[in-house]
Amino acid sequence: MELGFLGLGIMGKAMAVNLLKSGFNVTVWNRTLSKCEELVAYGASVGNTPAEVVKKCKYTIAMLADPPAALSVVFDKGGVLEEMCSGKGYIDMSTVDAATSTKIYEGIISKGGRFVEAPVSGSKKPAEDGQLIILAAGDKSLHDEVMPAFDVMGKKTFFLGDVGNGAKMKLVVNMIMGSMVNAFSEGLVLTDKSGLSQQTLLDVLELGGIGNPMFKLKGPAMIQQKFPPAFPLKHQQKDMRLALALGDDVGVSMPVAAAANEVFKKARSMGLGDHDFSAVYQAVKEP
Ligand code: NAP
Repeated sequence: MELGFLGLGIMGKAMAVNLLKSGFNVTVWNRTLSKCEELVAYGASVGNTPAEVVKKCKYTIAMLADPPAALSVVFDKGGVLEEMCSGKGYIDMSTVDAATSTKIYEGIISKGGRFVEAPVSGSKKPAEDGQLIILAAGDKSLHDEVMPAFDVMGKKTFFLGDVGNGAKMKLVVNMIMGSMVNAFSEGLVLTDKSGLSQQTLLDVLELGGIGNPMFKLKGPAMIQQKFPPAFPLKHQQKDMRLALALGDDVGVSMPVAAAANEVFKKARSMGLGDHDFSAVYQAVKEP
């Protein structure tokens, strides 16, 4: 299968490498074009613009930072729409809000193409291991055709119906995660300030009902105050912002998420946006 892949950040690079290793012919593009070189070593071809990639490939996948990036790659000069036409499919796996995804869908179908949104749950390591959870919605026939690629990138794909449903589900999941990492950070700081061992807290949590893979994975690095970026904090804050806007739309009060968002904003203002989202610990720790 000939696939295009737009966006070679932490996630996109790992996903594209898996597709190449599994035998797909992949043509890549990234805004910073030099990042494509590493993929060429795995057998990728390179397109100079998103349009060039779409022209060459029947199916094009995108994994981009945020709504402005996802829109720019589709609608700007040299963008996806210039070469989109009947017979082609566009699969956007970026985490964006439903309104952004719907705008992209409308652009793609106006050119005769088909569209699926497919944001993912799971971070750098699951992306490297092909163990993502894919939250797809949109054109079912396109979803079915690209399932072999989803099966390489993920361990399970949910098909959630109309465009927007995948985006919303993803925001709900990350809203919960953002609130959890804040509560976890407060617990770690409270443990320390109370003269207790943070490692003992991790051991206690792991054995009980509120133990979970995220605390297990992030906890040891957090107590050493190490935050190598797997999921950049700036993206987690974007997801909190978009989830709170969704709550606004549907009239759901989310005081816990709103408070967590404020701490992520504080962390961003402390210059921690490019660190892992667990660096919110530093913002909790600072008075
Ligand atoms: P990342 O490492 O920051 O990569 C972002 C990608 O978007 C890069 O390829 C970047 O290009 C590109 N980009 C940014 N602004 C752009 C613009 N205006 N025009 C064109 N391209 C632009 O992010 P990531 O961690 O891979 O995340 C990608 C998406 O997946 C985000 O929506 C994120 O929320 C979501 N996600 C991430 C994780 C995770 O754990 N990391 C997990 C699930 C979902 P340059 O290289 O030129 O900067």
